[in-house]
Amino acid sequence: MSDRASETAAPGGERPPVCSSRGCRREAAWMLLWRNPRIHGADRVKRWAACEEHLPVLRDFLTARGFPCEARRVE
Ligand SMILES: [Zn+2]
Repeated sequence: MSDRASETAAPGGERPPVCSSRGCRREAAWMLLWRNPRIHGADRVKRWAACEEHLPVLRDFLTARGFPCEARRVE
């Protein structure tokens, strides 16, 4: 699974998202939708991909800062 080392950042989005947690190369099972109300308008939503293990870590990071966030299962 993890020997797909070449990174060509294809903008098509056909490959599954990789976890946004630093150093984690796992396939994401969750997508965290969040925004910083101080710098982002209500229509501006950021996306972080998260594996099962890092979803709570990333969500805690956001909620600790008071950022609204929502987790969606990656199909
Ligand atoms: Zn991860």
